[in-house]
Amino acid sequence: MRFALVNDVRWEASPGTIAFCPGCSQPMIARCGTQRVWHWAHRGNRNCDPWEPETRWHRGWKDQFPAGWQEVIQRDEAGEKHIADVKTEYGLAIEFQHSHLPMQEKSAREAFHRNMVWVVDGARLKRDRSRFQQGRRLFKPIPGTSIFITRSPEESFPLAWLTCTTPVFFDFEGIAATNEPSGSNRSMLWCLLPERVEGQAIVAAVSPSAFLNAARKRAQIFPVQTVVEMVATRLRHERVLGARSWTYALPPRRGRPFHRRDA
Ligand SMILES: [Zn+2]
Repeated sequence: MRFALVNDVRWEASPGTIAFCPGCSQPMIARCGTQRVWHWAHRGNRNCDPWEPETRWHRGWKDQFPAGWQEVIQRDEAGEKHIADVKTEYGLAIEFQHSHLPMQEKSAREAFHRNMVWVVDGARLKRDRSRFQQGRRLFKPIPGTSIFITRSPEESFPLAWLTCTTPVFFDFEGIAATNEPSGSNRSMLWCLLPERVEGQAIVAAVSPSAFLNAARKRAQIFPVQTVVEMVATRLRHERVLGARSWTYALPPRRGRPFHRRDA
């Protein structure tokens, strides 16, 4: 983690500093090497929030937000502590996930935060990125939007992230690792929504800068419910139009008034 407590003040790791975990109050070790970003680690066995390892990718994303929004601790009704990677002033929790997370832990966080999104490092495994590039060919664009639908999201995204109840943003380019997530719009984040419409999954392409702008100002990255309704309406229209053009293609039946009038 980035912050531990020194005399009850949030403190960043520096060599030789002694601090305590804000979650479980256990002493923490300052890890200040050259391989990883400087961070705090629990001593030996720990019975605390399962911590995401502090990779550059992880820290790069967290650092796009004010320090006061990072590693925010909240308690549930049972008094259990939950630590959000980022919790914005607007009530949105953002969890950045580089490594595997057990399904149970995933569901627990979604249930606790309610208004949250995942940002997943899609560049961790080479296979993940190439699978996405293959699967993306099956995306059908909704004209005039950056929204896509697909019947087979499993062709594009890791199985473990298909059953979330909150939006999942995949960062396939390792945008934060380059330390410029707010930079170019060439690399998109791909957001898989939890909803399905007529068996279709909905995917939105969102630029990292749009993501950050929204996260810093609003309670939602984009209006998910509106997008779902828009897709549902479009699909309904397509069905109706499809049915109509089929009707037009039929030869006119004889003996009906408007056929006589037309003739
Ligand atoms: Zn702890």
